[in-house]
Amino acid sequence: MTNADNKALEHLGVNHLSRQNKEYLSQNQERYSLAMQASNDGLWDWDLKTNKILYSDRWKEMLGFNDDEISDTADEWLSRVHPEDHDRVRASIDAYLEGTTSNFEIEYRIRHFSDNYLWMMAKGLAIRTSDGIATRFAGSQTDVSERKSNEEQMIYDALHDTLTNIPNRTLLLDRIRQSLVRRQRYPKTSFAIIFIDLDRFRLVNESLGHIHGDELLQLISARLKETIPISDTVARLGGDEFSILLQDINSVRDVEVIAKDIQDLFSKPFFLGDREVFASASMGIAHSDNDYKTPEEILRDAELAMYRAKREGKSQSIVFQPQFRQSSLSPIDLDTDLRRALDRDEMELHYQPIISMRDRTISGFEALLRWSHRSRGVISPNEFIPLAEETGLIYDLGQWVLGKACKQIAAWNKSKKKEDQLEISINLSSRQFSDPNLVEGIVENIEKSGFDAEFLKIEITESALMQNAQRSVSMLNQLKDLNIKVCVDDFGTGYSSLSYLHTFPIDTLKIDRSFVHDMSRNFRNMEIIRTIIMLAHNLKLDVIAEGVETGEQDAQLSALGCQFAQGFYFSRPINSSDAALLIQQNHQW
Ligand code: C2E
Ligand code: MG
Ligand code: MG
Repeated sequence: MTNADNKALEHLGVNHLSRQNKEYLSQNQERYSLAMQASNDGLWDWDLKTNKILYSDRWKEMLGFNDDEISDTADEWLSRVHPEDHDRVRASIDAYLEGTTSNFEIEYRIRHFSDNYLWMMAKGLAIRTSDGIATRFAGSQTDVSERKSNEEQMIYDALHDTLTNIPNRTLLLDRIRQSLVRRQRYPKTSFAIIFIDLDRFRLVNESLGHIHGDELLQLISARLKETIPISDTVARLGGDEFSILLQDINSVRDVEVIAKDIQDLFSKPFFLGDREVFASASMGIAHSDNDYKTPEEILRDAELAMYRAKREGKSQSIVFQPQFRQSSLSPIDLDTDLRRALDRDEMELHYQPIISMRDRTISGFEALLRWSHRSRGVISPNEFIPLAEETGLIYDLGQWVLGKACKQIAAWNKSKKKEDQLEISINLSSRQFSDPNLVEGIVENIEKSGFDAEFLKIEITESALMQNAQRSVSMLNQLKDLNIKVCVDDFGTGYSSLSYLHTFPIDTLKIDRSFVHDMSRNFRNMEIIRTIIMLAHNLKLDVIAEGVETGEQDAQLSALGCQFAQGFYFSRPINSSDAALLIQQNHQW
């Protein structure tokens, strides 16, 4: 035991006890002291009658002092507590001693000899007279600086963007929330959001690589921070999107001036290695006047205004107007988002089983693209495929689908015998089909996934085939040489010339679901289906009916000799894990 601990014993009145008790207590104290040393805690013992505190050597040492450098006043402790924590500590001690709170435990910062602050946790217990008056108060002090700094780091990381070290979306939304609360209380205070999206950033990434792309984002965020007053928040929302929360704005005009400053910041080049790169940004501004309830609403409106700025020629800023909301579904907005959908991991492939009518099991799957847009939810391929065609993004999308689907089917077929292997059907749009690099891309993906090309089936619509029949024949022949199957999708809806049909090296006709839809009630459609099935048999082609939704349709198609079917009646398009489950169960319908 140290001297101070001995003194503490005396302090506790040990000298008035019997020798036996004294020894017992001394042993106990010894153990206690050892435990304290082991746990690295400092001790204090406060005599409330004399207002003197006995600090253990360890207590003093933790603050960087020798035994004789700290006296026995409460001031030695309390005067070192961080000014921001002082009142809280004092109030907590008082509340406990007065009996308002039942225990004393508090974390606070205290100044070390070196003038740095340490985080300490103090715990204490009071000895009270029978009427509850505290006469002494003793406890421990634990250094929790490391845990505190880990906690602070974790909180910091959760609220900041790792690349640029500026606030992230979560922190921005939180600060907007505070601004909204403030505005409710003081309606005269206004704020604004600027939503910034870099123009053609994808190009930087593609031509200079991701490392330079990241570097550019860092440089831009540094310039933004220099331009924006420190009381405002510059945040990175992800990708090439930034946003700024401007506090205490008098008018929209003020914001436009700042937006102009931001625009100017892009007038100077950025240096990436030894390259000079110019960047520009489109900006949308939303002002708090529009009575927002949630931070997401104002951010969304600023984003809508940004899209408008992009559409109207990029490199400019536009202030949000409520009528932008109505036109927010226009294809141009989607275009920008579609460009990012792959980077943002918003695309997914679903798989719809194709059932063999003979043994009622899965013969393969059709891969169907799904886009989960982060604010609009799931968008149908019918909406975004034509857009992707128009912008040329279909090539990237197509490669992604091909890569993903080939890998997936290779995995599913891995443990299957050759005769049980499943086919995968992939849709190609007309622009993809006329891409001179198509075959090369397909070969690459097949080789990468290592599965047998004969299990890949390409679906092309009749109209795509007929657009340039001559070229189609040569393209189909190349696919045939690779052993890849071809299916004419939505058959019956285009203008296929029957005279051409037999010159195309195709394997399958897929009857369009518009015929299947009301075949049970519409005699004409039933006859069309019968004719297509007969035609397929005569041309030695397989036939699939798509869009089968009822048991009646299933039975009629079977009776007509249709070999394969797909539709909601059997299964909707499902994600890969659900599909894997069906395969595993050897599901039969
Ligand atoms: P599709 O190739 O004719 O695909 C069949 C569509 O019918 C799918 O719509 C599917 O979900 C839907 N369907 C399946 N069974 C039923 C049913 O029983 N009833 C009804 N009402 N519908 C059913 P989805 O997935 O919306 O795809 C629409 C179109 O988008 C596809 O028509 C295809 O042309 C195109 N598409 C989808 N994925 C891709 C892709 O990866 N690349 C290309 N180029 N086009 C794709
Ligand atoms: Mg299809
Ligand atoms: Mg179809």
